[in-house]
This record gives sequence, C-alpha cells and structure tokens, in this order.
Amino acid sequence: MPDHVFGRSTRGALPVAVAGDGCYLIDREGKRYLDGSGGAAVSCLGHSDPDVRAALHAQIDRLAFAHTGFFTTDAAESLADTLVAHAPAGIERVYLVSGGSEAVEAAIKLARQYFLEIGEPRRHRVIARRQSYHGNTLGALAAGGNAWRRRQFAPLMVETSHIAPCYEYRDRLPEESAEAYGLRVADELEAEIQRLGPDTVMAFIAEPVVGATAGALPAVPGYFRRIREICDRHGVLLILDEVMCGMGRTGHLFACEEDGIAPDMITIAKGLGAGYQPIGALLASGRIYDAIAAGSGFFQHGHTYMGHPMAAAAANAVLGAILGRGLLPRVREQGARLQSALEAALSQHPHVGDIRGRGLFRGVELVADRETKAPFDPALGVHRKVKALAFEAGLICYPMGGTIDGQRGDHILLAPPFIIEDTQIDELVSKLSGAIRQAVAG
Ligand code: PMP
Repeated sequence: MPDHVFGRSTRGALPVAVAGDGCYLIDREGKRYLDGSGGAAVSCLGHSDPDVRAALHAQIDRLAFAHTGFFTTDAAESLADTLVAHAPAGIERVYLVSGGSEAVEAAIKLARQYFLEIGEPRRHRVIARRQSYHGNTLGALAAGGNAWRRRQFAPLMVETSHIAPCYEYRDRLPEESAEAYGLRVADELEAEIQRLGPDTVMAFIAEPVVGATAGALPAVPGYFRRIREICDRHGVLLILDEVMCGMGRTGHLFACEEDGIAPDMITIAKGLGAGYQPIGALLASGRIYDAIAAGSGFFQHGHTYMGHPMAAAAANAVLGAILGRGLLPRVREQGARLQSALEAALSQHPHVGDIRGRGLFRGVELVADRETKAPFDPALGVHRKVKALAFEAGLICYPMGGTIDGQRGDHILLAPPFIIEDTQIDELVSKLSGAIRQAVAG
C-alpha cells in the first residue's frame, strides 16, 4: 500500500508503535523501547497511566466537546484553578490551547493587545535568544533562534532580535565567575532594548532551561533575576517558555521557581497532557488580564479546540498524579541519580564535553575535542548517529545540534518519565553510553 501519511511517520521508514507499557513503547514486532526522552519531553507519566486512562474514559462517557464560544466545562475550570494555585506570584489567568506553538503564539498576541489597551501602541517588538526554540507557527518561529528552522520562512516572519543565550559551558570566560557571566549576558537584553528604543519593545521570551536546541541547558544563578530587573525597568513583559521544562520536568512544577522570579506570562504544553491528549496553556498575570478586561473586554484570539474537555480531563489527571503521588521530589531524586550515573559512565569519555540539567531533564553535549570544546563537523551528524544506534538498542533519546550557524555542538536530550525506576536508569545510561561510544568511534 502506498504511504498517505504526510509528515514524519511514514510507513516503511519507521517502526509502527502499537502499545505502551510504563516507561516503554512497543512496536509491531514486539520490540520494546525505553522512552528515555518521553518522545520530546512529553510522556512524563509513561505510556499506560491507569488514572489518566480512567479520567479520559469518564470524560468521554460524560461529554466529549463543547465549544468555548457557548460553554465552559468543569474540566477546564478545575484545570485553570489548579494551575493558578501552584503558579508563581501574580499569575492569575489561564488560556487553554492545544500545544506549545499555540501557547507561544497566544503569548505574543496577548502582549501586543495588552500594550494597545494601556495606550502604548508603539510597543510591538519581541526580543528572544539565539539557540532557542519556541514553536513552528510563524509567530513562535520568529521568536525562536534556531537559524536552520527559520531560514526558508524568513520573509514570512515578523522581525525579532536575538541576544546571546546563557550558555556557561561554552561562553563563560576562564577568569569570569558564573555570576559575573550571567550578569554580562543578561545585560545584552538591556543593550538590545536601548538599541531598539525602549518604547517599542513589548516582550522578552526565553526558556528557563533550554530544551530542543541545546540539551537541557539551565541559566546560571542570578541570570533571570537580572533579566526580570531589566524588563521591569523598561516596562517590557517577561514571557517564560516552559513548554518543555515545565510541569515538573525539573523537579518543580514550574522551572522558574528555581530561578526565583515570577514572569508576566508562562507557556506550558507537553508534560501538561503527558501525551495522553494534545494540550497547552498560556498563563498570564492578573495585571495583563485586568487591563484587557477593563479595555476592550476580551482577548482577540481563539481556536476551535481551545479548552477541549478531553484534553483538560487528561491534564487534570496528570496534575493530580504529579502533585498527589509525590512525583516532584521523586523527579529531583531520580534526576540526581541519572546525573550521577551519566557522569560515572561518560564524564571521562574523550568526546563528552558537558553533562547537565535539572531534575529529569538532562543533556549530554558531545564535542570533537574536550580541551578546546570544538564541536564535531556538522556533516558527521553525530547526534543523529547516537539517536539511531540507541534506537537500535531499544532506547529513545532526543538528538539535536550541529548543523547550522548559531547552533553549537551535538546534544542528546534525556527526559524520561517521572516514574522511571533505578534499574531503568541503569538501562538508559548503559544503552546511551554504548551508542555514544559507537557513534564517535567511526
Ligand atoms: N516551546 C518550546 C520550549 C518547545 O520545546 C516546543 C516544542 N519542542 C514548543 C514551544 C512548541 O510546541 P509544540 O510542538 O507543541 O507546538
């Protein structure tokens, strides 16, 4: 039969996934794959969680869909209540969408509408960081700093400026303390706001722990506090994109808790539905919401499937599991175990430059030369080789890197389910180490 699916999962080229069992996916041949990256940091509860399945069955038996133009639902209301109850200070409103790109797109449009409502119509510019990813729709793509993804769509995108990421392993000067480095790169935001004209800038967007472009890269302590100060000084909104790193992935429900700051907006997705349903959300401060409520009265945006009851029911069950089963401390504990196991297996390897991350969000950066930190020749596609070899051995890990300007190094991202057991951590590390050894050997 010819292929009719248009996208990544074409028949023949890829195995057919037929079942999920805890931390494992199973293909049609019965081969089991340990999901070491939760797909792309999605499946935080594994693939067969009984509570989420029960919640979905109960919801579909009651109500499948009610359009948000006519109704709200208990599922959506209770999800928003839980998110706000656990969100950083000042976050009071939740806008439910169907994924990460939609959440970022909504954040950008909400920022723009907010400034129109408060009488600052010149503010329209977004500042973001290089080596970042915020989604694939045109607004989110424009914010992202991944040159390869952007290249062919550049004429369709709004202009966004990009400052340096906070990338201690590569960019901290030898004589510089981590703190001084963090302040130096954060101050690039100040300079960029001044260059563009402070009254034209509406928002700065960043991932607290960079995921899809730099393998679980957290900022150094103090960086985000300085970013917050700069945004406040210039009336610029701070949007934190926690689509990958949020919802417990770092051992805290919101990654920014560890950075000690409260943003004006937060985007979440992936772990929110944990793969059981597609869902994302934009969380916004009361200040932003109130300005719009007092002005035109409504946010001029919307999608047919926003606030979908099935998606909200899944997310309620996922949050119930994360908060009710003590998974946040477990993520911190198993995350530390994963880090130690990775270090024990790989820290002396001549092509492993850095092993980093927070909670169960870990990255391994591969280099051609540990001393100079020189990346591999992008043409070698080392990250893709590691992915393929690991997959062959029955391990799913998420590769990225080295093919484009502004994108430095080959990285392997690990984001296993929060329920991962000690023996599965050993399996993950042993299969990954084997794949890395083989990939760089020739
Ligand atoms: N923001 C971040 C930080 C992401 O990692 C991603 C997805 N990798 C997105 C946004 C886009 O999310 P989605 O693929 O659900 O549209």
